[in-house]
Amino acid sequence: MKNTNKIKNKSNEYAAHLPKDFNRPNDAVGQRLLKEYGSLFVARGGAIPPKTVIFKSESDVSAFQASLLKSKEDIGVFAVELQTAAMNNLKNAIAEAEKNNVTITPRGADAAKRNYADTVALWASRVEPALAHWVKKGDLEVAEASQICLLSPFDQVPKIFKLESRGMFCSKDLSKSIVYSVAPPGASQHLSMLALDVNEHDDSRVRDVLAEHGWFQTVVSDLPHFTFLGVLENQLSKLGLKKISDGGRIFWIPNL
Ligand SMILES: [Zn+2]
Repeated sequence: MKNTNKIKNKSNEYAAHLPKDFNRPNDAVGQRLLKEYGSLFVARGGAIPPKTVIFKSESDVSAFQASLLKSKEDIGVFAVELQTAAMNNLKNAIAEAEKNNVTITPRGADAAKRNYADTVALWASRVEPALAHWVKKGDLEVAEASQICLLSPFDQVPKIFKLESRGMFCSKDLSKSIVYSVAPPGASQHLSMLALDVNEHDDSRVRDVLAEHGWFQTVVSDLPHFTFLGVLENQLSKLGLKKISDGGRIFWIPNL
């Protein structure tokens, strides 16, 4: 009884820090996405998180991105666009790292901001080869795979989660859930302009200096991915987040 109350209180703590008017999902897919990607929604320090776990269209994404205060900078060889609060803190982290001859650079042209179409293409780049693999292996009927391919990307999500519950994982290496490899269309943290994929993610000095400037790892086992949460590490549990250790890394996820 005591334990149950404790768990309930922690999950209330997370709920209490969600944005005003946040559209909390009731469906299984939405709840899973909130659990896997939801740290973003309690971001502070001038960050504006979306009010929904999944954008349903390009126009929803564009309207949200248009409402934000954002900054664009050349970092390394790529242009990076982020919410201004996230960018300012990133630049401070980069400047501090430079003093110790440590670099922090984006992994590609799509390392920060993405649009809805980008998330659709990334999703397809995992789903299509995974379906082909499971058909070839004999675990999945051609008819079922074809049916999934014909659905809209949005409607594919619950079907893919179902296949994964039968052991047919759809990440790039087919060993884990697709959610740790790419986000479902419309659900990527990159749409919020509060996420950055970093080349030097393996260097603990990079992770430390980013954390000192409000940037944390929040998607378990997505190693290059950092999220701007806008507070110091000792504030994260007060926002209703919990620390997960995985593969020698620390990840902060909703305490749900
Ligand atoms: Zn990422």
